[in-house]
Amino acid sequence: LLCIGAGYVGGPTMAMIAHKCPQYKVTVVDVMPAKIAAWQTDDLPIYEPGLLDLVKTCRGKNLFFSTDVDKGIKESEIIFISVNTPTKTFGEGAGKSADLQYWEKTARDILRASKSDKIIVERSTLPVKTAIAMERILSLNEKGLKFEVVSNPEFLAEGTAIRDLEKPDRVLIGSKETKSGLEARKEIVDIYANWIPRDRLITSNLMSSELSKLAANSFLAQRISSINSLSALCEKVDADVNEVARAIGKDSRIGDKFLKASVGFGGSCFKKDILNLTYLCETFGLYEIAAYWESIVKMNDYQTNRFVQTITKAMFNTITNKRIALFGFAFKANTSDTRETSALYVTRKLMMEKAHVVISDPKAIKNAKNDLKEYGNDIEYQEDPYKAAKDAHAIAIITEYEKTSFYF
Ligand code: ADP
Repeated sequence: LLCIGAGYVGGPTMAMIAHKCPQYKVTVVDVMPAKIAAWQTDDLPIYEPGLLDLVKTCRGKNLFFSTDVDKGIKESEIIFISVNTPTKTFGEGAGKSADLQYWEKTARDILRASKSDKIIVERSTLPVKTAIAMERILSLNEKGLKFEVVSNPEFLAEGTAIRDLEKPDRVLIGSKETKSGLEARKEIVDIYANWIPRDRLITSNLMSSELSKLAANSFLAQRISSINSLSALCEKVDADVNEVARAIGKDSRIGDKFLKASVGFGGSCFKKDILNLTYLCETFGLYEIAAYWESIVKMNDYQTNRFVQTITKAMFNTITNKRIALFGFAFKANTSDTRETSALYVTRKLMMEKAHVVISDPKAIKNAKNDLKEYGNDIEYQEDPYKAAKDAHAIAIITEYEKTSFYF
């Protein structure tokens, strides 16, 4: 098995497969040498609880990391693709559709280096119908090779990725419903069946699988925007949004998860996937539906903005030179990931007002420094929250850390 892309998705997924399936040789390749080098050490390029222990059980035995993409492709029978597919920042669909340049490059790498038939497993989140496009690119080969593309979207949540991989609610495997498509589907089902009960392995056609991933993330984000929208109203009428969430969450039709009011959702998936869904709807002329889903992102922006305004208002409408400590910078607890974190937006706003911002986070300081490098030494970083809080005029709680994670 080969995995292209050694990031938040590829690394943990392949470590779990290697751990659970000693009969497979698993190789993870990436174009970034520094990242591959870090995977060989105890200082992994990403933080995820339990990941290092998991990697240690199989690294060098049946789990390997390499920068030699072509060799990996040549030697593999099944290729998982987990390269990044960020939102496009330029041209047609900018700000909404997925940027497929890394993904297409990967398709072309596979085409160039392959010497035998392969199953390609899409694990990155991609717009619907990408698998078909991938198959079109791959079938353009003059070597007579056959590629069967399967969609296997990841549903793991950062911070609990290892638990999610070990005991997933479900694993979704979509394929074409042709003979060869169904055979490829079975191969992938058989890998996961090494540790996951069969009734949790859901199979479907390709497009259902691709769309389900966007839909799942959009529904999750919708819950956060729904409760956040009520938080503003609660503050006006002296209701407590936590009490409202508890009351409605007890209804089993609603459920209690993802109902915590906050400064807004972040992360590399929610916004991106909703925007992908929106763009898809617009492409098909479904403008009302696009507007409906897009409003979830708008509500999120509103909430983050409101958070900063609340800080400012509470401090007599001026925060210039005031020391404001941010507790948490990662987009959620137990991860080093800061992609699309609300903290970034909050920090920028506070810096515009010339506040003295101090950032504290147990795992994400390195990424925070990188995200905010334009401010240089104007921002203070303190891993120790006590030092961050010392003499602060305000503490803004951004990430929902348990007390213990902050070494209290
Ligand atoms: P995700 O959260 O989706 O896993 P990451 O950015 O953490 O996203 O990981 C994606 C990885 O894919 C990055 O490490 C990037 O260097 C790698 N990558 C992108 N394009 C290619 C490529 N053509 N070949 C190999 N690796 C690639």
